[in-house]
Amino acid sequence: MDDPFKNAQQQLKKVNRYLKLPAATLRKLLKPQHVWKKTLKIPSYKSYKTYKSYRVQHNNALGPYKGGIRFHPNVSLSEVKALSMWMTWKCAVAGIPFGGGKGGVVCDPHKMSEEELEAVSRAYVRAFYKHLGPNLDVPAPDVNTNSKIMEWMVDEYNKQQTTNNKQQKKNEILATFTGKPVDKGGSLGRTEATGRGGVIVLQTLLKLIKNVDKSLTIAVQGFGNVGYYFAKIANEEGFKVVAVSDSKGGITTLDQKSKIKNQNYEQIDIEQTLKCKQERGTVAGCYCLGSVCDIKYKEKFREITNDELLELPVDILVPAALENVINEKNAHKIKAKIILEMANGPVTPEAEEILTKRGVIIIPDVLANSGGVTVSYFEWYQNMHNERWTEKQVNDKLREYMERAAKEVWEQFMKMTNDKIQISNQIQNSKFKINLRLATYALAVKKVAGM
Ligand code: NAD
Repeated sequence: MDDPFKNAQQQLKKVNRYLKLPAATLRKLLKPQHVWKKTLKIPSYKSYKTYKSYRVQHNNALGPYKGGIRFHPNVSLSEVKALSMWMTWKCAVAGIPFGGGKGGVVCDPHKMSEEELEAVSRAYVRAFYKHLGPNLDVPAPDVNTNSKIMEWMVDEYNKQQTTNNKQQKKNEILATFTGKPVDKGGSLGRTEATGRGGVIVLQTLLKLIKNVDKSLTIAVQGFGNVGYYFAKIANEEGFKVVAVSDSKGGITTLDQKSKIKNQNYEQIDIEQTLKCKQERGTVAGCYCLGSVCDIKYKEKFREITNDELLELPVDILVPAALENVINEKNAHKIKAKIILEMANGPVTPEAEEILTKRGVIIIPDVLANSGGVTVSYFEWYQNMHNERWTEKQVNDKLREYMERAAKEVWEQFMKMTNDKIQISNQIQNSKFKINLRLATYALAVKKVAGM
C-alpha cells in the first residue's frame, strides 16, 4: 500500500489490538486535529507561479505541535498527514514535551533560483503564521529545507508579528522555528543530531540484544544530512560503513560474490566521499579510502544502483532517503539482519510482515531518527531560556535522551512479548506478531493517551 497516511493509520490500529484504547480516544488519534491548506502565489515574470502547501497539526496532548517543512515535487496531503502523526509518536518516544505537526510545499527546489526559494519560504510563513508560535506550533527543516530557509522564515514571522501589532519577545520569535543557523539562535550539534542519535539508538539496542560484535558492516541509502552524519559517526564509533548511495547511485567495498560477512572489507572514508560528491554531484564513482579519493582504489570498490544497495549482504541496512523504498517487491531480497530506519517510513507494512517473519529486526523511524527533534527541543529550550549550550552539553544530553528512549522501547517490547506468551496460552494460535515498531508505538500511544 503506497498511501503514507493509510500506512500510518494501519500501524496505529495494529497497536490498538494490544492497547485496546477507548473508541473515542482511538478515533481522535487516527486523524489530525487541524489540516491547513494554502496555495502560495509568487510573482513571476509578467505573471504568477502557484505552489500547493500544507501545515498539518496532528496532536498536542504533550506540548506544542512540532515538525519540519518539506519542499519536494512529490509532497502530498497524505504524506504530510502521515508525517505529522509520526511526529506525535516520535516526540512521545523521545520524551520531549512536544506534539506532532508537519508541513510541505509541492515544488522542486533543484529547479528554483535562490530568489524563488526565499519567496516561497516567506510566502509559506505568511500563509500559516497565525497557526505557528513557540507555544503553539514549531516548524523545522526537512527534506530540501535547511537552516538558511529557517532564517528567512524567522525573519518573515517577525515581520508578520510587527505588522499585526503582536508583542512577542525576540527570544520567543527565535523559538518559533528550530534548525536555525548557529549564529542566528540555532543550537550547536543540531545539524548532526539525527545521524548521531541513530548511532546511539543502534549501540544501545545492540547492547540490549547482547550483540557485541565490534565490526558490524553497514550500508547507508541516502547521503544527505541524515545519511552523511550517520555514516561518518558510525565509522568513528567502530562500525564499518561499506556502502553509501544518493539519488544517482552508489558505491560499495563489498565484492559481487560475497554472500557472507568478511571482516576485511574496508570502511569507506565518509569525509572524502562528501568532498568528492560535492565536486562530481554524486557519490557514484567516488572511490575514497583512508584520507584520499583515488582512481587506484577502483578495484576495491564497485558502483551499485540504489536497488542493489538495499540487497547487499551487510549486517545493518540504513535507509536514510525516502519512504517506501523497502516494499513487498524487494523485501524477500533483503539480506541484512537489522534495518535501522533513519528515513521516515522507508519500510512498508507489507514488507515489514515479510521481514519480521524472517526474523529481521527493524528499528523503527520514530525511535531511530528522533535525535533531530530531540536537539530541536534543546534549541527551543535554549531560546526560551536565553541560554547557549556547548556542543558537548548538547551531545551528552542527546546521548542521555536517546539511551533512555531505546531502553524504554526495549522494556516495552519485552513486556509485550511476555504478555503475548500469556495471551497465547489462553487463546491458541494467536497470530499477533510483536516487533520493535509495535512496542515503540505502544509506548508512544500510551504516553499521548495518558495511560
Ligand atoms: P536530504 O535532502 O538532506 O537528503 C536526502 C538524500 O537522499 C540525498 O542524498 C538524496 O540524493 C538521497 N535520495 C533521494 N532520492 C533517493 C533515492 N531514490 N534513492 C537513494 N537516495 C535518494 O534529507 P535528510 O534531511 O537527510 O532526510 C532524509 C530522510 O530522513 C527523510 O525521510 C527525512 O524525513 C528523514 N529525517 C530527517 C531529519 C533531519 O534532521 N534532517 C530528521 C528526522 C527524519
